[in-house]
Amino acid sequence: MKVGVVGAGISGLTLVRSLAEQDVDVVAFEAREEPGGVVQSRHVDGHVVELGPQRLRLTPGLESMIEELGLRDRLQTGDDEQPIYVYHDGELKVAPLSVREALTTDLLGPAGKLRMLLEPLFGPPRPNETVDEFLVRKFGKQASRRYLGPLYSGLYGTDPRNMLVEYSLGRVLEKAGIDRSVLLWVVRKLLSGRETPPICTFEGGLGELTQGLYDAYADAIELGTPVETIRKRDDGFELVTADTVEYVDEVVLTTPAETCAELLAPVDSGLEATLRRFNYNPIGMVFLESDFDGTGIGTLVPPGSDVQISGLTWNASFLDRDGLFTCYIDPLSYPPLSDASDEELGRVGAAEFERITGTAAAPIHVHRWEPGMPAYDRSWTAMDDLELPAGVHLCTNFVDRPGIPGRIRTATRLARELADE
Ligand SMILES: Cc1cc2nc3c(=O)[nH]c(=O)nc-3n(C[C@H](O)[C@H](O)[C@H](O)COP(=O)(O)OP(=O)(O)OC[C@H]3O[C@@H](n4cnc5c(N)ncnc54)[C@H](O)[C@@H]3O)c2cc1C
Repeated sequence: MKVGVVGAGISGLTLVRSLAEQDVDVVAFEAREEPGGVVQSRHVDGHVVELGPQRLRLTPGLESMIEELGLRDRLQTGDDEQPIYVYHDGELKVAPLSVREALTTDLLGPAGKLRMLLEPLFGPPRPNETVDEFLVRKFGKQASRRYLGPLYSGLYGTDPRNMLVEYSLGRVLEKAGIDRSVLLWVVRKLLSGRETPPICTFEGGLGELTQGLYDAYADAIELGTPVETIRKRDDGFELVTADTVEYVDEVVLTTPAETCAELLAPVDSGLEATLRRFNYNPIGMVFLESDFDGTGIGTLVPPGSDVQISGLTWNASFLDRDGLFTCYIDPLSYPPLSDASDEELGRVGAAEFERITGTAAAPIHVHRWEPGMPAYDRSWTAMDDLELPAGVHLCTNFVDRPGIPGRIRTATRLARELADE
């Protein structure tokens, strides 16, 4: 059996590794000249800048990959004891993510804190409930609107009122094994003494991981070779590139929904139409240099304020990246995002950083993701109509977990299933 993989981001690279380890013949095609997909680390003005993800959780799956690739010496753990702040009423307030923070934060008033404790009394998600409705019903308005909603939806740049819980947060809770009460799950976890894996990166950024994977399996990966279309044959598929036609028995796509739609159009036009329904939000990233010496992981800016950014990562503080801060701009916080110049985004990022922290900052780089993150908005009802022909697999962040440890888990599982066939 031969497996063809489209894309060499973390999903494609993990598939190649796992299939090769199980002696399955595999070939991957990557459109860009470098591996890693949205994982892209750069050196700018002496700083390690992450154009995509800023850090990972060091899960057991990731740890064994790091050992195997000989990257242990390059690993750098972050300090995740530091607080996450919310910019509320013109001030930075601690988001209550631990018992101590819940008791001490002034983000919520006494009534808001008490209301949160009633969460176990309220049942699981209801059909057609939005993330905002679900969180308000469970935790009350204060906690939901001031930090819980933005903490979840901020990753995707979508308003929690436009996310159906069944297709977004509900799936996250289900995968974590949370059926009824989030608070009781947290208490059980605290009592069990199980620790959350630490935050980590590498000295030269997360790109060291994807480059390490590529280097180990380069024989099976064609860089700078976009797949132009996929055709069905009686006994498998043809992956068509500019110079070759590769015959494979099974094909795995790891690309964003729109690319999957384009490539699979000749295989199944109904599937193409379904894939085109999934929305993505653009993301603007502004990398800032500043002397701000606050201690924290970052700042959330809930939608609805007049602040024109959606959040900040304080790389300088929790990842020990000297003077570096990452600012996120999405269309909810800054509607002209797609038409704005890089200079404009840089100005917006620096000005809002100064408003939030009280310290000046200078933009050193701007990057845009278009498509950026899957929106997980109402368009995700398309999941109900997603039917894949035999031999076609999606191993993508829009149908499954978007975080990198989740991508590694899903790709490893799919490789095992394919090897078992
Ligand atoms: C800004 C941002 C911040 C994030 N932050 C975090 C974080 O802090 N922690 C975390 O765990 N996760 C984070 N994520 C999520 C995580 O990074 C992604 O979900 C994950 O990296 C996606 O990997 P992938 O391999 O599935 O897809 P991708 O990385 O999108 O890879 C798909 C690959 O397919 C290639 N391709 C496209 N078209 C073709 C074609 N026709 N032929 C061949 N190849 C093609 C692309 O070039 C790309 O390399 C973040 C994501 C973004 C965008």
